[in-house]
Amino acid sequence: MSDCIFCRIIRGEIPSKKIYEDEEIFAFHDINPIAPVHFMIVPKVHVASLMEVDASHQKILGHILLKANELARGQGLEEGFRTIINSGRIGHQEVYHLHVHILGGPEPLGSMLKRRAP
Ligand code: AMP
Ligand code: ZN
Repeated sequence: MSDCIFCRIIRGEIPSKKIYEDEEIFAFHDINPIAPVHFMIVPKVHVASLMEVDASHQKILGHILLKANELARGQGLEEGFRTIINSGRIGHQEVYHLHVHILGGPEPLGSMLKRRAP
């Protein structure tokens, strides 16, 4: 998937504010943050979404979640953070390269989704 925007970021073809990289994953700040700290962790291998993963991705998914805590602390999120994975149309996914959002800041983030009026 050479024209995928996150694949291009991983390859350095599009600039990003990189936080971390190893042989399997890449982490960078969201270009349009919705919290004081907002970054994403992505697998280097192109996987469109959580709806496409299979058993072969088990290790990398675990690796991403373990790094989420470490990288969140590195960004000053010592008292907690939120992880979000948007998947597919209903999940309002915009970029179809699997990514885990990590969000936080000095103040609590509020409830997860706004409740609809009954
Ligand atoms: P999602 O709705 O979960 O697919 O979120 C995609 C996220 O990617 C959004 O929060 C965007 O702000 C972010 N994004 C899109 N393009 C870039 C980019 N070039 N660099 C960093 N973040 C980006
Ligand atoms: Zn990709």
